[in-house]
Amino acid sequence: MIVAMQEGATAAQIEHVVERLVEDGFKVHRTTGTTQTIVAGVGRPDAFDVKEYEVLDGVSEAYRISSPYKLAGRSFAPDGTVIRYANGVTVGGEEIVVMAGPCAVESRDQLFTVAAQVKAAGGQFLRGGAFKPRSSPYSFQGMGLDGLKLMREAGDATGLLIISEVMEISQIEMMLPYVDTFQVGARNMQNFNLLRELGHIRKPVLLKRGPAASVEELLLSSEYILSGGNYDVMLCERGIRTFETYTRNTMDISAIPVVKKLSHLPMIADPSHGCGRRDLVPAMARASVAAGADGLIIEVHPNPEKAVSDGAQTLYPEQLEKLMTEMRAIAPALGRRLR
Ligand code: PEP
Ligand code: MN
Repeated sequence: MIVAMQEGATAAQIEHVVERLVEDGFKVHRTTGTTQTIVAGVGRPDAFDVKEYEVLDGVSEAYRISSPYKLAGRSFAPDGTVIRYANGVTVGGEEIVVMAGPCAVESRDQLFTVAAQVKAAGGQFLRGGAFKPRSSPYSFQGMGLDGLKLMREAGDATGLLIISEVMEISQIEMMLPYVDTFQVGARNMQNFNLLRELGHIRKPVLLKRGPAASVEELLLSSEYILSGGNYDVMLCERGIRTFETYTRNTMDISAIPVVKKLSHLPMIADPSHGCGRRDLVPAMARASVAAGADGLIIEVHPNPEKAVSDGAQTLYPEQLEKLMTEMRAIAPALGRRLR
């Protein structure tokens, strides 16, 4: 149930609504937008009367949430969620953010070289996997903790924020000092135990859409994180499985405006995994910006042909530079900007 407070509702009025929801058996979450506070009651109380809430002092409107996702739905934060980092970067605001870097951390030399290139191109985040979910157990599995340490060092040296993939609960604690954002990979979108644990931390999470997941399933997965009280969640379209074989996946550009309509969560586009081919990545990135994405996550490597994973979809640094210039031209047409 959503209880939208009037503009200027007092703290006491909000508190009273919260108390009533708790009495009725709801778990309470709240957001404060630019003009109003929204109080959401989630859970499955046996009986409650919406009218009782409508008439409380300071309440603008009260209604049942009809969608299966309660906290991810737009009604919980009609102005849209803006994730704020200590260095001033925001995700979900006017600025379109760029997260770029290699598929996997491979070496100090590789990472520091690419970090400088991402910074020079105007990116805000350095991406790079230290734990890699590979289709084959015989493929490179990532550098682990050593890779995370290198990521942190490269982030501190350049001023880039760090995003890296977490594959299991036992890695969360270990990763906390080294990452600014946890990436949940497509293969783990429905690892509900992992998602629940990420709801208990207070660091942003980027949740990727599973290769065969519907948008509704993606939103329901985000609900596992949100319901734990971690509201800094961003979603990511990274391509889905279809009958097309020319591309690695089919980049579902339509998922971007669909998510923006249904949810308040920032939406990031991953054109690299989305199409799996370097020659198509720039077009898919430009299309994502035009479709309303709040950011992009893009694979780039100093020498993509020598990359240990996902080389074919990885951009050359010069390609990233050029793409940034193109996206900088598109963003203002949509009232957005790119650094
Ligand atoms: C990645 O970002 O390198 C990755 C493994 O992505 P996904 O989970 O989308 O396959
Ligand atoms: Mn990859």
